Amino acid sequence: AKRLHRGRAIAFTEDLGLAARERIRLLTDLRSAFHAERLHLAFQPLVDLATGSVVGAEALLRWTTEEGDVIPPDRFIPVAEHSGLMIALGEWVLRTACDQLKRIIELGHTGFRMAVNVSQAQFREPDFISILERVLHEHEIDPKRIELELTESIAIGQIASTAAKIAEIRRMGVSVALDDFGTGYSSLSVLKQLGVDRIKIDRAFVQELGHSSDNGIADLVVALGRQMDLGTIAEGVETEEQRRYLMERGCKDGQGYLFGRPMSSDAFEAWMADRL
Ligand code: C2E
Ligand code: CA
Ligand code: CA
Ligand code: CA
Repeated sequence: AKRLHRGRAIAFTEDLGLAARERIRLLTDLRSAFHAERLHLAFQPLVDLATGSVVGAEALLRWTTEEGDVIPPDRFIPVAEHSGLMIALGEWVLRTACDQLKRIIELGHTGFRMAVNVSQAQFREPDFISILERVLHEHEIDPKRIELELTESIAIGQIASTAAKIAEIRRMGVSVALDDFGTGYSSLSVLKQLGVDRIKIDRAFVQELGHSSDNGIADLVVALGRQMDLGTIAEGVETEEQRRYLMERGCKDGQGYLFGRPMSSDAFEAWMADRL
């Protein structure tokens, strides 16, 4: 039994070694992709659920390898996050999203808002707010046109300092949404303390609508938004039934394949030009 146990321990160590090697490989590849400009942003429309008009877009990071494969952000962002690369990458995302925002505004969509994801490492950087200010200033962008999407995990163990930072961002005029709401650990009191503008209902809860007798969480989040006077946006809206249900409950905005998939910069501009 003892030998067996030791054998398992060794196999376990080897697995860890393999996983670590894969992470290092991924990180090396990501770093060269970043410098070779093989990263780009896709833009997915945010739509008013009642009228169908476009209110903005979310910028989503994409990595296309030399072979033409697209590596999804869920695979490489956590690796970047643990290496410090995410700080530079996040600033690049913000700048690139602002470039696109500028072009959309120049098309004539003056009320458009651009939603940008911000990772925990990026948000916790002491320079984060000054970088944000500088990028907006350089692009001559009205802060009201930008929304930052933060996940609940950003606040773990640091609610007070997170809330203070969010307040400072909002004083600049930039709005803040709590992303993937309902998937994390956070409680009502955390939501209240953080003081965000909007909550984003995670795709998982939207996809349950119509498939299960229990529409519980999506309903709750929409009701909560109303109660707290926060904007609500549902992600992953794929069907007309989901759209109607959410709209009738009072959810304001939505995002999902029903309205539009994430598009390349050029495709998104053409899509927006059709909607003037
Ligand atoms: P997220 O912020 O929850 O983004 C929404 C995800 O849902 C996107 O996946 C989007 O393509 C997908 N989606 C939208 N509508 C639908 C739909 O109707 N059906 C289905 N099945 N999926 C839909 P994506 O682009 O793979 O991004 C995954 C995650 O990676 C994002 O989740 C976000 O957490 C992260 N991410 C993406 N870009 C960035 C970035 O620039 N910075 C940071 N920190 N994270 C990012
Ligand atoms: Ca997001
Ligand atoms: Ca989300
Ligand atoms: Ca999500």
